Amino acid sequence: MERKEFRELTPVEEARKLIEQIRVQPEIITLAIEKAVGHIIADDIPSGVDVPAFNRSVKDGYAIHAKDTYQASEPEPVKLKMTGSIPAGCSDTFFAGEGEAIEISTGAPIPDGADAVVMVEQTKGVDDNILVYQPVHINENIMKAGSDIMKGERVLRKNTRIGSREIGVLASVGMKEVPVRKLLVGIISTGNELIEPGNSLGKGLIFDANSYAIAASVEEAGAIPKMYGIIPDDGKMMEEGLDRAIRECHMVLTSGSTSAGVGDIMYKIIEDKGKTLTHGIAIKPGKPVVIGMIDGIPTIGLPGNPTSALSIFNEFVAPIIHNSLGTAPSFRTKVQAVMGTGIRSGGREELFPVGVIRGRAYPADKTSGAITTLSDADGIIEINAETEYIDAGSPVEVTMFGNVRIPDLMYVGGQCPGIDLLEEMTGLVFRTLNRGSSAGFAAISSGTTDIACVNMVDAEGNYNSSTISKMNLENIVLVKGYRRELGLIFTPDNHVDGLEEITSLQLINRNRGSGTRAILERELGTLAEAKGMTKSEFIKNIKGYNSGSKTHRSVCDAVKSGKADVGFGIRAAAEESGLGFVPVTEDEFDFVIRKDLLDIREIQVFLNALRSEEFSRRLPAGIHTYEMTGSIISPF
Ligand code: AMP
Ligand code: MG
Repeated sequence: MERKEFRELTPVEEARKLIEQIRVQPEIITLAIEKAVGHIIADDIPSGVDVPAFNRSVKDGYAIHAKDTYQASEPEPVKLKMTGSIPAGCSDTFFAGEGEAIEISTGAPIPDGADAVVMVEQTKGVDDNILVYQPVHINENIMKAGSDIMKGERVLRKNTRIGSREIGVLASVGMKEVPVRKLLVGIISTGNELIEPGNSLGKGLIFDANSYAIAASVEEAGAIPKMYGIIPDDGKMMEEGLDRAIRECHMVLTSGSTSAGVGDIMYKIIEDKGKTLTHGIAIKPGKPVVIGMIDGIPTIGLPGNPTSALSIFNEFVAPIIHNSLGTAPSFRTKVQAVMGTGIRSGGREELFPVGVIRGRAYPADKTSGAITTLSDADGIIEINAETEYIDAGSPVEVTMFGNVRIPDLMYVGGQCPGIDLLEEMTGLVFRTLNRGSSAGFAAISSGTTDIACVNMVDAEGNYNSSTISKMNLENIVLVKGYRRELGLIFTPDNHVDGLEEITSLQLINRNRGSGTRAILERELGTLAEAKGMTKSEFIKNIKGYNSGSKTHRSVCDAVKSGKADVGFGIRAAAEESGLGFVPVTEDEFDFVIRKDLLDIREIQVFLNALRSEEFSRRLPAGIHTYEMTGSIISPF
């Protein structure tokens, strides 16, 4: 097969102009209101009724003639004769004469004759009479027929996205159905390596993330997704799948197989079947995107990498949907931020994923293809091709993904259930990046996190302070956290008695840069010394020492699944996984916090929770607070 090279990439501005030209004609369908959330209203909606349909009381009280009460006062109440009672929903006819009062419930129709309602709180019942202690004016506590919505009045505008409020309005004017625009978008994932989520992963397979992520994006944009599932890298099957989707939908999105790799043929099929408008846009990530037209149906080949696929969707596909539906993007809000750290770019226009916390944007990019980029980022900034470097502190505009809730505090470092507990107790939203202590120190040093979660031990057994000194970290404080039991983790039927056994077992170690890994290394050093060996000699004999799981949880998973005989980590994680645990030592899990944040509300809330009795009580087994918990060590 002939290979395609991306010799001429379409500049972004040109691609945008091209997108502007593409319009799809949606159908108009009628949906039951309970099914209509998220859809776009096709027509202005007039009310067929007055709301309320009759004059009604807005208070529990008595329907009366206002002028009967004009003389009423606390010391000299007016006496009125009670002649009846009207509950809500009552259809009987009542008449209130002068000097009379009719008991009335909130929402009940006002009786003829009455022109006001006096609240029950301003009256007192005595036998068949009531005493009124305050004057009321005409129409007081009465909602007039049609005063909320007049019959014929437009209650909803066309092109509005239907949410809970719109559904409430539709129901309250008695509409059971609503006309909406139907823009059906076919979604196809391609690749021999893909398998449906919910199945077990065979060798070399990955779960199909794009079908679901793109379908959700289509829905967020107001259109209706139709998933065609996974099509293998087979020309004929792809053609068949594409044919079907094009027959059935208003627009078709494929993902994968658009670049110039072996087996990447989607762009070729689109070209053969229709017209390629562009293949390859000068943007990063997601350069290999095909925009084509087959039988009048826009057909867009998105890149396979999920982060690229979603970025390209947001940039180039969502606008087609919005333009076609005549609606404004609902969630594509832009927020102003300043870069929390400098970033390097250059060469091509770039959609750069960032996390946003308290108006600061942090890079959230990872190696291309990392799926966690999606969950660690809140949005993207667009960097033009000429920009080579954006300095820390520069203003940037962030286009937010979906309807994200911006986190309150950012944590980088070691994983610990204590942090999850703090998140629950504070009611704040934490972004926690479990990358190990070294990554935590690096992030606090570069100003790209609020808090580093660390358990880094030095040769003397001191936790964290020597790393802070060694790195010359400035403008930070060390907040002492809590202590955690660390030890060997194994399955109950494969008991391990102690560290001495480790050389005869398959180990799952933590990642390089993890504090827990450093603690194990220190323990092994002590053991080696006792045996008259050097540490490196001893470590050489441990199978799996070079492995690197990123969290305590994943260490437990490896032990549980039989990939390893033994792991080293916290008791809390072992117990949560139903695994055996033998203690080896205790660590100190601490928090390094940027000094300039100490006074902000979120950090205060965090510190209060950390120092609370409740926290201490609710920590899982093997983690405990001590006299240093919550104390602030500064300066260094
Ligand atoms: P491709 O463009 O087909 O070469 O795909 C680029 C990368 O994205 C490869 O690593 C694919 O395995 C991955 N990929 C393609 N489609 C999907 C999908 N639907 N879900 C998750 N990853 C995918
Ligand atoms: Mg592929």
